[in-house]
Amino acid sequence: MKNYLDNLPKDIDKLINLASRVARKQGVRAYLVGGVVRDLILGVDNFDLDIVIEGDGLAFGSELARKVTGRLVTHPRFGTATLMISNKIKLDIATCRSEIYQEPGSLPLVSAGALQDDLARRDFTINTLAIDLMPDRFGSLIDFYHGKRDLKLKFVRILHNLSFIDDPTRILRAVRFEQRLGFRIEPHTLRLLKESAKANMLRCVSPHRLRDEIILMLREPEVIRCILRMKQLVGFNFIHPHIKLDRSNLDYLRAVKREINWFYNNFPKGRELDVWLMYFVGIVSNLNANQVDRICKRFGFRKGEIKRIISYYKFSRQKVKCISKKDISPSQIYRILEPLSFETILLIKAKYKNRFLDSHIKNFFEYYNGARVYISGRDLTQIGLRPSPDFRKILTRLLYLQLDGKINSRQEALEWISRFC
Ligand code: ATP
Repeated sequence: MKNYLDNLPKDIDKLINLASRVARKQGVRAYLVGGVVRDLILGVDNFDLDIVIEGDGLAFGSELARKVTGRLVTHPRFGTATLMISNKIKLDIATCRSEIYQEPGSLPLVSAGALQDDLARRDFTINTLAIDLMPDRFGSLIDFYHGKRDLKLKFVRILHNLSFIDDPTRILRAVRFEQRLGFRIEPHTLRLLKESAKANMLRCVSPHRLRDEIILMLREPEVIRCILRMKQLVGFNFIHPHIKLDRSNLDYLRAVKREINWFYNNFPKGRELDVWLMYFVGIVSNLNANQVDRICKRFGFRKGEIKRIISYYKFSRQKVKCISKKDISPSQIYRILEPLSFETILLIKAKYKNRFLDSHIKNFFEYYNGARVYISGRDLTQIGLRPSPDFRKILTRLLYLQLDGKINSRQEALEWISRFC
C-alpha cells in the first residue's frame, strides 16, 4: 500500500502524526482531505491542512491544540475549528457531515453523516481525495469519486449535474482551479457551467459569498488568465452590467500586473499589497466612481478597501498633470502621494504612462515615504514652545524642507526653529 504521507515537510509530518495519535486516543477516525491531498499528489506545497473527523471534531481540535503551540478558534454551530500553528501552517478541522441545500446559493443545512457524504458535497472530484490518518491505514488514499483519475486527466469535474445550481460560486471556483493548475474544465462540466452562467445563476448568490470568491480569484498568480476565462465563459454582468473588459481595460489589467511585479522586485522588503483590490479596479475601470462605490457597498468591502478603490477614481487630472512634470520638488511629490495607499499609487502609475511620473513615484517609495523629521515634539517643548496643534504644522514644514534638501541635519532643523518660531 502506497503511503501518501511519506514525504511531508518535517513540521507538517510532526503535526499529522500527532493528529493521528490524538484521533486514536479519542477513538475517532481522522482524514486529511481536500486541497492539500490534491496538491500533495501534484507535488505542490500547501500549508492549509484540512482534517475531517468522523466523531467529535471540536473535542479533537481542543485536545490537539493542547499538544501544540497554536491558536484554536471553534465554530460549534458548524462543528468546525481552525488551529493556527504558525503564520504559515493552518489546520481546519471539520466534523463529518452531509448537507441539504434549501435553495440555490444559500448556506447548506448540516446533518450528521460520514466521510463519503462529506466528500460528496464538495465542488470537484479533484478536491474529494482523502488520506486516512488512522494507524492501521495511515497514509492510504481514499478516492470515492475518481479524483486521482481526474488529476491525471487534468480535469476539473463536478460531482453531479446539479452542482452549479446547488452553489453557483462553483462557477468561479472551476475557473480558478482550471487556470491555477493548468487543467481543463471537463466537457460535460463546462456545458453545465455555461448553462448556469446563461441562466444568471450567480445572481442568486449572496453578494458576500460572491465577494469572497472574487477575492480568491483575484489573488491567484494567474489572475489575468482567470479574468479572461471568466469573460469568455460567464462575463462580469454579475458584478455590473456595464463592465466592458475591452482591449484597453485588458491592457490596463496587464499594466497593473507589471506594476505589482515592479513594486515587489524593487522593494522586496516593502509592505504586502492587497493585489486583489488592484485587479478589481482593473475590472471595473471603465465605470465611474459612483457606480464602483455602489458595487463596493453591495459586496460589503471594508471601509479601508473602499477608500483605496475610490481614491483611484478621485485622483484629479490636475494632480496627474502636476506629478507628470519634470520639475516638481520632492515635497510636492510627497504632498500628492502621501495621502494615497500604495495600491492607489501603483494603479495611477499603471494608468498614466509617463517617465517623470514613474521616476517621482519610484523616489517616493524609495526615499520620501517614511522619511523622519530630524527633531520631535519633545525638542519643541524643550526649546520653550507650548504644545499645540501648531506642532504638527511645524514638523510637517520641517519635513518638506528636509525632503527638498534645504535642511540637512538636526542642528539645521533646530536653527530653523529658533529663527522662525
Ligand atoms: P486552495 O488551494 O485555494 O486553498 P482548496 O481546495 O483548499 O484550495 P478552499 O477554498 O480552501 O479550497 O476550500 C477547502 C475545500 O472545501 C475544497 O477543497 C473544496 O472541496 C471545499 N469547498 C470550498 N468551497 C466549496 C464550494 N463552494 N462547494 C463545494 N465545496 C467547496
